[in-house]
Amino acid sequence: MNITDRDLLETRAYIAGEWHRNGAAFPVTDPATAEVIANVADCGPSEMAAAIAAAKAAQPGWAARLPAERAAVLRRWHDLMMAAQDDLAAILTAEQGKPLTEARGEIAYGASFFDWYAEEARRIYGETIPPHAPGLRLTAIRQPVGVVGAITPWNFPNAMIARKVAPALAVGCAVVLRPSELTPLSALALAKLADRAGLPKGLLNVVTGLDADGLGRALTDSPDIAKLTFTGSTRIGRLLMERCAPTVKRLSLELGGNAPFLVFNDADPEAAANGAMTAKFRNGGQTCVCANRLYVQSGIHDAFAKALAARIDALRIGPGTEEGVAIGPLINAAAVEKARAHLEDAVARGGTLVTGGETGPGTFMRPALIRDVPADALLTREETFGPVAGLVRFDSEADAIRMANDAETGLAAYLYTRDLARAARVSEALQTGMVGVNTGLISTAVAPFGGIKQSGLGREGGHQGAEEYLETKYICTSIS
Ligand code: NAP
Repeated sequence: MNITDRDLLETRAYIAGEWHRNGAAFPVTDPATAEVIANVADCGPSEMAAAIAAAKAAQPGWAARLPAERAAVLRRWHDLMMAAQDDLAAILTAEQGKPLTEARGEIAYGASFFDWYAEEARRIYGETIPPHAPGLRLTAIRQPVGVVGAITPWNFPNAMIARKVAPALAVGCAVVLRPSELTPLSALALAKLADRAGLPKGLLNVVTGLDADGLGRALTDSPDIAKLTFTGSTRIGRLLMERCAPTVKRLSLELGGNAPFLVFNDADPEAAANGAMTAKFRNGGQTCVCANRLYVQSGIHDAFAKALAARIDALRIGPGTEEGVAIGPLINAAAVEKARAHLEDAVARGGTLVTGGETGPGTFMRPALIRDVPADALLTREETFGPVAGLVRFDSEADAIRMANDAETGLAAYLYTRDLARAARVSEALQTGMVGVNTGLISTAVAPFGGIKQSGLGREGGHQGAEEYLETKYICTSIS
């Protein structure tokens, strides 16, 4: 791995501000080569309990600090991340597979949450409420929820952590994080920089380990965890929600998507194809906001399909470390299998494979385009999470909205049109938490990211992202 600061390649867990190894370790592999790149501390419930206890002990002191002091730590952390951008990106690509340019982009995106929430830390305002009776002063103040448990996935091993940790720490919470076993190195490198930024001990704990269920349970069962924040599949989100019920934890769930991408006759087919490439193929199709179902109006269908196929054919596939590569390996064999199954199902139901779809070596898959996909294909019913784009034809705006909304999930949607009224009408009719109009890239630290329906609860980013880590306390004071 090509990094200059070898200390960032940390393999020990980070508990109570100490680097911890208990002897047990699990391998982390490079999906491009299947080679083991590191052996990381394999923690269990006792380490999780120690991390929770450390966070509980550290949190009140941190909450009592001035917002400007917390902000200063976050700002230093941001600066350290940007200074180490190339090393962090190299670690990320080695364990996750995405092209280095995308990995650098993810580090900058992750860092931007520390920058944004350093500023938000100073703006946690309460309210004074006109009283209901004479001689009273009513106020509502905002206080941190306390200790936060965080569980994050492998597809954005830096940014999915930053989106939770930055707002939580900014408002005075402490965090116990369990990153995906597939990508623990990015989490540990981030913790290394937290340490260097001067984050007091115990406020961030990174408990690595193979036992996702056991470590998750240790978080959900603990009465000392006030809130759980999770990014991952809807299936595991439901399970965690159930497990949080006995202790009535606050919950944020960023779950699966199945984003519709609508192209209307009046759109520019070239611009729409560019947007579709970004929305569909970023991270090899492995993002929760990836366009999953492309609905194209009959009048523009062929021009759009041609423009998209040309762009797909131009994509270079290979290890993320190679210059010019746009598509790296998928995360594992199961991911390839799912994408392949969706492709085969669409073709078996009458779709036409226009280009791509070949698999191998290892977990590489050539991006595929299928046209005339029937509306009931797996490709439209389920999140593919891989580089397969399927086109479904539609005639009327009403049909497009109906098909787009015919899903259990509702995370992101995209639409391309040059009709301003239609853009407003359709954006408001779509049952999703986010809509991209004439753009395929919507994620930013400054705006609320999140889903409706079974895509989850709560928002990350924007001032709304800080709300997720705050409680409101109402105080009624007699002043007579
Ligand atoms: P996943 O299987 O739900 O895993 C997510 C995280 O949960 C991982 O850290 C995983 O650990 C852990 N986990 C698995 N089983 C668990 C259990 N029983 N108890 C506690 N934790 C458990 O999801 P994935 O397939 O890795 O990630 C892809 C999914 O995440 C997609 O559906 C995608 O749409 C969604 N996602 C959503 C957003 C969003 O913001 N809405 C962002 C990114 C991804 P291991 O990896 O170690 O098994």
